[in-house]
Amino acid sequence: MPTLAIHNPATGALIDEVAAETAESVAAHFRTARATQPAWAAVPMAERLAIVQRFRALVVRDLEALAATLTREVGKPIAQSRNELNGLLPRLDFFLEQAEGAVREEHVFTGGDMHEEISHAPLGVVANISAWNYPWFVGCNVIVPALLTGNAVLYKPSEHASLTGLAIARLLHEAGVPREVMICLVGGGEVGAALIAQAIDGLFFTGSHATGQRIAQSLAGRLVKMQLELGGKDPTYVRADADPKAAAESLADGAMYNTGQGCCSVERIYVHEAVHDAFVEQFLATVASFKQGDPGDPGTYIGAITRAPQLELLEAQVRDAVAKGAALRTGGRRGPGPGHHFPPTVLTDVTHRMDVMREESFGPIVGIQKVKNDDEAVALMNDTRYGLTAGVYTRDEAAARAVLSRVQAGTVYWNCCDRVSPRLPWSGVGDSGIGLTLGVAGIQTFTRPKAWHLRTP
Ligand code: NAD
Repeated sequence: MPTLAIHNPATGALIDEVAAETAESVAAHFRTARATQPAWAAVPMAERLAIVQRFRALVVRDLEALAATLTREVGKPIAQSRNELNGLLPRLDFFLEQAEGAVREEHVFTGGDMHEEISHAPLGVVANISAWNYPWFVGCNVIVPALLTGNAVLYKPSEHASLTGLAIARLLHEAGVPREVMICLVGGGEVGAALIAQAIDGLFFTGSHATGQRIAQSLAGRLVKMQLELGGKDPTYVRADADPKAAAESLADGAMYNTGQGCCSVERIYVHEAVHDAFVEQFLATVASFKQGDPGDPGTYIGAITRAPQLELLEAQVRDAVAKGAALRTGGRRGPGPGHHFPPTVLTDVTHRMDVMREESFGPIVGIQKVKNDDEAVALMNDTRYGLTAGVYTRDEAAARAVLSRVQAGTVYWNCCDRVSPRLPWSGVGDSGIGLTLGVAGIQTFTRPKAWHLRTP
């Protein structure tokens, strides 16, 4: 049996070694899930809801230990690991409140002797291949509604968040989900590829555009339902009438929280020339107040860079920007080892000829560009292949709505950023992906509607 070595990205230390899957074991797990899924689908909804309610209680019971594990394997500051786990609870509450209604039979027409209904059947055996940056969020966005709607789940956590993935599965089993219908498959990309090779009924992926594209290619011709939640290059526009201090404080947090490793982290900021200098000054002051260091320290705000290769990408974006005329206002180079560290980095005088304004950074780095008016800001915000989120800061709601209605993004924000709500669908435009999670539609997506045409004799 192969094993997966798990290192702490903040120190480089080996923290664990866990058993990993092979192509053969993945195939065997698939057969198990296939055989047991119908019995799980037959479990009454009330019982499945009670199981998820118990899972919620177990997350609360173990919250401190789970947060410590997340911090050790991902390098997320401990306060932010606790926030992620506490933030999971309202998501679970949303699923608990909405699941039954989302899949209730709908009686849509009765006329003469004809009656029409819609029922919602589980997809069957679904695969969830997931990312490491918010592993509780992105894992449970799929696993929980998929299980509630009667699917079996084969879950491949990121190789950078395997201990958290194993913990999610362990607590679901303890809560009462049969081991055969919720199976955690530890390993890297090769285990994900082996999972896709099975006769799955749905593929729910969260990760980079490059991997998403590879997965779409490997599913080509298979007619399997596929959802891809991919990267972003999330822009925000600060209008002339915005409060530069309030906007700067909010956006510095939106850019640097989770050490900038969020799909909806703010990566590009366009600021009206009237408030540009005041905004930049406040932004730099806010960033300077962020404490970087040991992710285990409750005061730490900037933690580790989880994946080592990202350090080179971030430095390359800075080099490219500076070579093309950008001003490096703070940060710019990796910190000393051991472990992977990068300081908050702010570039001004940037343009769209620079990679930092075009390619996903996925780190604590942001470009700030001066603009003349709303039209220029909208044109620049839309000058991207991504379309996950976009925002605007202004006192004028009508102006905000006008700007946001012209921006191509799955999620838009007025005077806020880097925010996800369980009540709203989470989706992307363009290379940010296809399909959605969250919202009522993010529960129904794990089911297949069946249309009933019934004629009374
Ligand atoms: P990644 O693409 O490197 O890996 C994602 C998953 O795919 C991992 O589990 C990995 O093992 C697996 N994988 C790799 N190669 C594979 C293959 N050939 N076949 C099957 N599976 C394979 O991404 P990551 O570094 O884990 O996550 C960061 C990315 O995720 C960023 O781009 C970020 O924007 C994105 N993300 C998006 C959302 C969203 O909701 N849109 C949320 C979180 C993260």
